Amino acid sequence: MSQITVTLPDGSQKQVESGTPVSAIAAAISPRLADAALVAWVNDRLVDLDHPLSADATVRIVTSKNPEALEVYRHSTAHLLAAAVTALFPNVQCGIGPPTDEGFFYDFVVERPFVPEDLAAIEAKMRELADAGFAYERQMWPRDEAIAFFRQRGEPLKVQLIEEKTAGQAEVSVYTIKDRDTFVDFCVGPHVPATGKLKAFKLTTTSNAYWKGDAKNQPMQRVYGTAFFTQKELDEHLARIEEAKKRDHRRVGKELGLFTFHPWAPGATFWLAKGTVLYNTLSNYMRGVLIPAGYQEVKAPIVFNKALWQTSGHWDYYQDNMFLVKSSDDEEMGLKPMNCPGHFLLFGSEKRSYRDLPLRFHEQTPLHRNEASGTLSGLTRVRQFSQDDGHCFVMQDQIASEVEALIKLIQRVYGDFGLSYAAKLSTRPDKFLGEIATWDDAEASLRRALDASEQSYTLNAGDGTFYGPKIDFDITDALGRKWQCGTIQLDYQMPERFDLRYTGADNAEHRPVVIHRAIFGSLERFIGILVEHFAGAFPLWLAPVQATVLPIADRHLDYAREVVGTLARAGLRAEVDDRQEKVNYKIREAQLQKIPYMLVVGDREAAEKAVAVRSRAKGDLGARPLDTFLADALAEIASKQLS
Ligand SMILES: [Zn+2]
Ligand SMILES: [Zn+2]
Repeated sequence: MSQITVTLPDGSQKQVESGTPVSAIAAAISPRLADAALVAWVNDRLVDLDHPLSADATVRIVTSKNPEALEVYRHSTAHLLAAAVTALFPNVQCGIGPPTDEGFFYDFVVERPFVPEDLAAIEAKMRELADAGFAYERQMWPRDEAIAFFRQRGEPLKVQLIEEKTAGQAEVSVYTIKDRDTFVDFCVGPHVPATGKLKAFKLTTTSNAYWKGDAKNQPMQRVYGTAFFTQKELDEHLARIEEAKKRDHRRVGKELGLFTFHPWAPGATFWLAKGTVLYNTLSNYMRGVLIPAGYQEVKAPIVFNKALWQTSGHWDYYQDNMFLVKSSDDEEMGLKPMNCPGHFLLFGSEKRSYRDLPLRFHEQTPLHRNEASGTLSGLTRVRQFSQDDGHCFVMQDQIASEVEALIKLIQRVYGDFGLSYAAKLSTRPDKFLGEIATWDDAEASLRRALDASEQSYTLNAGDGTFYGPKIDFDITDALGRKWQCGTIQLDYQMPERFDLRYTGADNAEHRPVVIHRAIFGSLERFIGILVEHFAGAFPLWLAPVQATVLPIADRHLDYAREVVGTLARAGLRAEVDDRQEKVNYKIREAQLQKIPYMLVVGDREAAEKAVAVRSRAKGDLGARPLDTFLADALAEIASKQLS
């Protein structure tokens, strides 16, 4: 037996015999590590613990403490799920079963759809297999034997996968649980060493699926589950899912009467009165941010001739996502999926000088993207939407200051909504257009801007677009979910395509650089995020109805209307609940509608020009003069107080 050298993460080295399994290295380090080990890195490959070491290598043992372990753990739980399903339903065929960000799933061809009782039985079987502590074992089978095995076993989808993925290979990798009769799957792994490692898992739901996600293919049933290293993490995750369901903007939007949809306009929102107030509050808020920052609001057309889309490149690269129409004189036209090309035409519509730069356009007109109907969902995946879209035309040496100003706007806006956020800088990809020196200069400008605005960021090296580097902003909502909203993208390419020029101080013509930027991103999507972030209980400045006045008896109705009049004249969104119901009932209703203030008025309040104030969040606040309530409410709105 030849000796090989194993290098550990601390730099120390061990001599072992060739063929020694990775698990022996863990055991030699410490019994505790051997016990906690799940998989291991051998050089830059993640492998099973029984992987034999055959050459000098660096080895790092992976335990549940390492972030890469969770994916392996969930993949192993997906195999456990398939083992349980095949044990309980001998005629099913297995599809694929990968880990996901939220857990894992496995697709099956079944004789009848799964029902909730099936999930309970499958989970119980999984638990039984986990308790038995069966080993996961990797085996290399001759390819034709593997194909014959799965074919004979009635697993044509596995046969198809092997044929597609292993062409030219002599052997294919399969994983068993206990033995091939208990469970075997075509899989490259790696996996945890034994089912006993799988502690905290839960099957969550089933859905319809298709082989390879294509509706033309065989229908399947997908079983979703999730898995964590501890029961506590699993419980917290399930509680978050419950909370997310309660906050689902589609549900809350219906309860609060914000918006609705109709099958004859898929992916296009009908904004109801209250939703329209919210929408306009946000779009006007953004105007209030951008106009003082030097932006000009513009409105470009929605339908453009094909020639524009050919110039921008959308005709060749984005046509499938566009709605195309014909004009009465048979011209091919397309609805705009983004505002940029319209802004380039606007820039080019006049002779521009260096004194005009930076020139900043902002536009909120509707955009249309022809998304597949199956992907549409509430406000987050739509076909029609508006953005707080903007394009800044700058000179190369204005990039850093312009981006710094933009980052400060973004910080201020997310701060106003109480959203935490993180920035990512994406730099030159392998395939790029333009000169390396220009890219280096642009990236340095972005870094300077990030530093100058004290914005921490992570680096996504090589993740920029082919036309320029960018900074993206992910916001984190109240449930800890991340959403990419804001973006700042430098673009050297479109000014070329549209032949944009300005006259420099040297009297010569130059190309401007374009900065594509958005803070909300899609207004529709941002509202969906806000609805879930606040669970519909918007802060006063955003609430569609800010106060409801509740008369105790009919004789107080006149005074109630007087109160609404006073509030409305001061700019507050108030209404009176004049229904013939008890005040307590109206309070409950207003509470469910998440109205920030309920103002109860009776004899005393009418006599004293007062209101008895009830806050959605803080309960009864007692009676006070109407003027005092109004002044306090206006101050709360002006400061955009969050609760
Ligand atoms: Zn697998
Ligand atoms: Zn753009």
